[in-house]
Amino acid sequence: MNTVVLKPHKEESVLRFHPWVFSGAIAKIILDKNYPHSQPQEGEVVKVADSTGKVIAVGHWQIGSIAVRILAFGTEALPADFWHQRIAAAWQLRQSLGLVRPDNNTFRLIHGEGDFLPGLVVDIYADTAVVQAHSVGMHLHRHEIAQALTAILPQLKNVYYKSDDTLPFKAPVTGDKTGYLTGVPTDEPCWATENGLQFRIDWLQGQKTGFFVDQRENRALLERYANGRNVLNMFCYTGGFSVYALRGGAKSVTSVDVSAKAIDLVNANVARNFPDSTVHHAHAADAFDFLNEKIEKCENEKIKTYDLIILDPPAFAKHRDAIPNALRGYRRLNAKAIEKIKPGGILFTFSCSQAIDKEMFRLAVFTAAAQVGRKIRILHQLHQPADHPVNIYHPEGEYLKGLVLYVE
Ligand code: SAH
Repeated sequence: MNTVVLKPHKEESVLRFHPWVFSGAIAKIILDKNYPHSQPQEGEVVKVADSTGKVIAVGHWQIGSIAVRILAFGTEALPADFWHQRIAAAWQLRQSLGLVRPDNNTFRLIHGEGDFLPGLVVDIYADTAVVQAHSVGMHLHRHEIAQALTAILPQLKNVYYKSDDTLPFKAPVTGDKTGYLTGVPTDEPCWATENGLQFRIDWLQGQKTGFFVDQRENRALLERYANGRNVLNMFCYTGGFSVYALRGGAKSVTSVDVSAKAIDLVNANVARNFPDSTVHHAHAADAFDFLNEKIEKCENEKIKTYDLIILDPPAFAKHRDAIPNALRGYRRLNAKAIEKIKPGGILFTFSCSQAIDKEMFRLAVFTAAAQVGRKIRILHQLHQPADHPVNIYHPEGEYLKGLVLYVE
């Protein structure tokens, strides 16, 4: 194994369990005798040593500013059952969190650094695991990961690998980036259960791994507020919030997403859970066009203001350079939504941009509120659920934040 030697003092963050080594922290690289390349190859497992040469960790080598993503601290090699151990620990945590129940078979099993597996995401949908690698290191281990998953989770029939959009492009990647690692593909749609509601999960065509499991608890909170209200679910995707609002007794639910495929999924999910419901309408439309009333609506849907609005847009800032534009976007969107809320109404507003922290987001929403000039109070401050844990030494793992506002 090749060894990455750190500059003096640069071992401190590693000793504090931060899972990344930045390229600037590296003094030199000691290559193994007979190693055929002049530097470590993207994705290979390397040792990390302090400036005295003492090995303090093992991790995946990566081209770029994050040079090593650490897999194990205080060791010189990964144990033979490494993948099994880590995945079993994550599975045990999900069970102890009460997420594995007959009425809930949908959850995130592996949340990257939050489960001490940097670069790996695994979501479970009934009998299928969808695996996503964000590093070439994880890509190279995909078969061991699939094997461990099927050995540990008794319910699994399929492991689908979906890394086309998530692997870095700094070096050529060998092997398929997408496809079934185990199991037999079927044409039967997968219906997964979240808090007793059923959702069609389409990992082949859908966004990310097929479903946004991270909003489960925020949807359950929304259900408590939905009774008797006219609800507008903006950026609805598969309609998670819409289906919970219907179960909560909403007077009407309007779902909006720019993607026509998403709208098909919302309609299928509503029909599956509430086949007799007549109060749900869905529009494939741009959010701003909808809020600016540029969309044609049917007669029984000519509502201009709502009792409850959900704003759950895609990440506006994918990296730090995009922060100012993203903040402008959040201000504009929230101001528009606040204008559309009836007195005594409620706004659930979210940001899933990792680069925007909760203070920045709150300030953007505050500015929107002040612009519109409504009296507003914060009822809840929301975040990602426990199956998306944040490693305390890696605050970068925190990404989802939300506010529930009472608008007078
Ligand atoms: N609330 C959803 C997740 C939202 S993901 C849930 O609970 O599952 C963000 C969604 O915003 C995506 O489905 C995407 O298609 C949609 N979107 C992106 N840009 C949009 C726009 N300009 N107008 C409306 N929807 C948009």
